Amino acid sequence: MGAMLEFLKGRGPATANNRRDQSHRKAAVTFAARLTFDDVSRRYDHTTALDHVSLEVEPGEILCLLGPSGCGKTTLLRIAAGVERPSSGRVLLDDQEVAGPGCFVPPEKRGVGLMFQDFALFPHLTLLDNVAYGLRSLTRAEAKAEALAALERVGLARYARDYPHILSGGEQQRVALARAIAPRPSVLLMDEPFSGLDSRLRESMREETLAILHETRATSIVVTHDAEEAMRMGDRVALMNAGRIVQTGKALDLYRAPKDILTARTFSDLNEMQASIDKGEAVTPLGCFPANGLVDGSAAIVSVRQRGVLLVAAGEGVPGRVLDARFLGDVALVELAVQGLDAPLLARVRESEVPPQGAEIGVKVDSAAVLVFPADNGGTPAS
Ligand code: ADP
Repeated sequence: MGAMLEFLKGRGPATANNRRDQSHRKAAVTFAARLTFDDVSRRYDHTTALDHVSLEVEPGEILCLLGPSGCGKTTLLRIAAGVERPSSGRVLLDDQEVAGPGCFVPPEKRGVGLMFQDFALFPHLTLLDNVAYGLRSLTRAEAKAEALAALERVGLARYARDYPHILSGGEQQRVALARAIAPRPSVLLMDEPFSGLDSRLRESMREETLAILHETRATSIVVTHDAEEAMRMGDRVALMNAGRIVQTGKALDLYRAPKDILTARTFSDLNEMQASIDKGEAVTPLGCFPANGLVDGSAAIVSVRQRGVLLVAAGEGVPGRVLDARFLGDVALVELAVQGLDAPLLARVRESEVPPQGAEIGVKVDSAAVLVFPADNGGTPAS
């Protein structure tokens, strides 16, 4: 798609006051806005892209929007930016309605920046002009000064007069970032900003972007389908599925107390087994675990985090045999045959603690690593 970095002109309401701050080391500070989605739905002919989404992003907060492809993340960003209209519901910036029944503030009046995954720089413009592109409300001299400051912040001021083709992929991404922060948006929306980069570069760009977002203090939504990225970057994470927000909170809370099995799977590598509830406990070949409010006789899915499977001496715990081990660096993934389980059980253990293939061992489970969900409704707990 052509110019995928859709750069929405317009500066946050109070940004003119900031122009005096001409720091060339730090990213310029913005005035963050609170962004509210109030019961927003977006329907297309045959699809409901967003299904009654309510979400609040606090001023200066970095929220990671996490979810599988097609769950509605991009649509939500586009609605916040104003390049898409909600079918119903409202969007508010600092409690002022910008989209809703009878109200629509156009993108250039919102002070919201949107950076797409396949950002594209204009090949026929210098880097300075690429970055200055969204600053057309300023005088030419002011725009160039701001653009240069943004390029300096991402370490590329020396290429200001060059054209994009001489840059590496990572450098082009930096220019896209400079272009996104230059107008000092009060809300910055980034759609899978690192997906085009290789893993090493992604890591460093992630850190750099995070530092810049903290400096600018813009309210930010970063879209990703990578749970680790969401945990690393987000002050909070909102998990989406099929057009809905499934759960919102700090990454650690979503990890520790997932509302359903989908959330649990997103944040942890799990073993899953069917179980039935008896006398308030889920009964499995690995032992009995608290039923999490499920009633006796109901069917459950018991999930055990891979790092919660403990290898002990034969004769202790449940008997098991080592089938295989895959080294993943510091840890190894050990595949175990366990009496009573149809599928192999996976244990994540320290590389130095891997028993030999074929060894007869005992298996125990750390009860803190067990999550019990109902089997019949997508894994939402009954309680
Ligand atoms: P994500 O960003 O999470 O991958 P999207 O927001 O792009 O998801 O899409 C959500 C759903 O809405 C998908 O099923 C997609 O096919 C559909 N969709 C998005 N835009 C349009 C459109 N312009 N017309 C019809 N369907 C669309």
